[in-house]
Amino acid sequence: MNTQLYINGRWQTGVDEVENRNPSDLSDVIGSFAQAGRDQLQEALQAARAAQPIWWAAGIQKRHDVLMAIGTELMARAAEIGEMVAREEGKPIAEGKGEVYRAGQFFTYYAAEVLRNQGDLAESVRPGIEIDVRREPVGVVAIVSPWNFPVATPAWKIAPALAFGNAVVWKPANLTPASAVLLTEIIAKQDIPAGLFNLVTGSGREIGQALVESPKIDAISFTGSVPVGRGIAAAAVANMTKVQMEMGSKNPMLIMEDCDLDLAVAHAAGAAFGGTGQKCTAASRLIVHEKIHDAFVEKLVAAAQGFQVGHALAEGTQIGPVVSEGQLEQNLEYMRIGRDEGAQVLCGGERLTRDTKGYFMSPAVFAGTRNDMRINREEMFAPITCVMKAGSYAEALDIANDSEFGLTAGIMTTNLARANHFRANMRAGCVMVNLPTAGTDYHVPFGGRGSSSFGAREQGRYAAEFYTTVKTAYVAAGAPE
Ligand code: NAP
Ligand code: MG
Repeated sequence: MNTQLYINGRWQTGVDEVENRNPSDLSDVIGSFAQAGRDQLQEALQAARAAQPIWWAAGIQKRHDVLMAIGTELMARAAEIGEMVAREEGKPIAEGKGEVYRAGQFFTYYAAEVLRNQGDLAESVRPGIEIDVRREPVGVVAIVSPWNFPVATPAWKIAPALAFGNAVVWKPANLTPASAVLLTEIIAKQDIPAGLFNLVTGSGREIGQALVESPKIDAISFTGSVPVGRGIAAAAVANMTKVQMEMGSKNPMLIMEDCDLDLAVAHAAGAAFGGTGQKCTAASRLIVHEKIHDAFVEKLVAAAQGFQVGHALAEGTQIGPVVSEGQLEQNLEYMRIGRDEGAQVLCGGERLTRDTKGYFMSPAVFAGTRNDMRINREEMFAPITCVMKAGSYAEALDIANDSEFGLTAGIMTTNLARANHFRANMRAGCVMVNLPTAGTDYHVPFGGRGSSSFGAREQGRYAAEFYTTVKTAYVAAGAPE
């Protein structure tokens, strides 16, 4: 599948092309995909600016209908598009399908949200004046998204952007261009103004940087790594561009001595290794009460070793390959770093060979780790999890909160008082009680604290804070003649 750019309502070739290969099978060339040039980015920005007021004026029924059509088609084609996600990103096919279906749900949710966008009326403190407060579109939104959820993450940004009347210029991750094109094809099919939605594929350092630095955008929604986020924030401030960012994490899970041990093992293993650990919600710090530490670790290792690692499209695969060679090398480097820091490797952390040549790696468990080790401070984005021992709930909570990040956090306990205390005192955007750290709904806010997030929350009705700007109107009615 050779892919093109979508700019001003037209499919275009880029100024360059890059090859796209399957991480489960490096002999499988998915196609070559277009790299946008700077002039093409300018054309997209100009077109978006012109299309946005037309889209806003088209009204709520139109916007509802378009979003509903996009969402319905994504759900209907979840199997087909999910297969491409699995082929290109390397997640098992069931996860690829689930992701595309979820992407559809973001569109149908925001289709309904279009109709619920109501303002406020207020009386003035000055007699004879009426006030109303309405939400208006913020304008042209730049969306920069990562490869790990190549359809769902852009969907939870594009859907509210369009719902609230904005135009979009989207720069997806260069590792997953085919997924981006399939989503764009569905949007391009709709009766929307030319230029309302633009796809500019290309490298982050080139076209991504040029996009976020442009004074022609009004807002930036970014998901990705902390270093790139810092650069984007600086670019945004220079132009006073509204910005929202979801970034790294180091999600803790407290495993208390009163928990259901088997459930704790299942949730911890699933959250640590699902999606090859390449989730911002992955459980990467397992803080285990000393009374059950050894029993928990033994079962966790058995669970890690029990996962079937293989080709993402093969039946029975539970963990697919790592997304790229660079990511795999970085993961293996973290295995060396952990060993050098004195952590004990209980299992995994090795490159695996399979029938096809790909970036396969066995899920790894480090034990005997301390929270000041790099493997407990830095996001690895790998199928590697670190176990720490704690003597009490209070100690475990202190360790959990000692991090620059604060995206998701979980506790496994049957003690109601502890569960409630954790909900109130864990410094994170999402807290999970007797659930994995990964796995969130589509109709409620998602985001974190500290270095994990910046700006307004994503998802649910809270997304209005980012994708709209508020106007306060004062009207003096005057006296009738
Ligand atoms: P990344 O390197 O930060 O890239 C994210 C996106 O930014 C990609 O589209 C990338 O393009 C682009 N980009 C890179 N440099 C840029 C620049 N200078 N200016 C503008 N855009 C630029 O992250 P990644 O490697 O794709 O994904 C892994 C990271 O994302 C992890 O750290 C993970 O935690 C984070 N993540 C966070 C969440 C969350 O919701 N909190 C969700 C998923 C992932 P290229 O593809 O061309 O590099
Ligand atoms: Mg990158």
